[in-house]
Amino acid sequence: MNSEIKKIFIEAKLNQYYNNVCDITNKLIEKYEDLDFKLIFDDEHMLYHMIINNKIDVVIRDDNTFDEIERKLIHSVYNYSQPIDCFICNTSTCLFITCPKCETYICNKCHKKIHIEGKGIFNCPKCEYQMGIKLNRVQLRKSLIKMDKMYEVNKKRRENL
Ligand SMILES: [Zn+2]
Ligand SMILES: [Zn+2]
Repeated sequence: MNSEIKKIFIEAKLNQYYNNVCDITNKLIEKYEDLDFKLIFDDEHMLYHMIINNKIDVVIRDDNTFDEIERKLIHSVYNYSQPIDCFICNTSTCLFITCPKCETYICNKCHKKIHIEGKGIFNCPKCEYQMGIKLNRVQLRKSLIKMDKMYEVNKKRRENL
């Protein structure tokens, strides 16, 4: 691609991203009148951050939808330390993770199942987002022990927020 066209292409993409971010933010401002919203653009990583009440930082990626950001907001503002219902098995628990893409809640047991089935690769049951690397048997066993600690740490962290 010629560099001038490339520049125009990047600008168009950024414009589209900006419009999407504004759209989501405006809808949230309307719906959550009691909250304060600010937008910050991190130009090093080319990412928009939504700062809620001057303390909660929610990253908005260019492919995020309103529902995804609203879920992140509800999770971080209103019920951080509350138990959640697992998307897969419906168990209510405080030991869970959220998908980094769609913020779906997955309990520790289901997360482990996904982890073992994917041999270390996380595959979101809702949005199919994938992350992680393939592990051998020894690495997999070690990572499962680490995970148990991680749920507890995350739970504590949320309680202290
Ligand atoms: Zn579950
Ligand atoms: Zn997901």
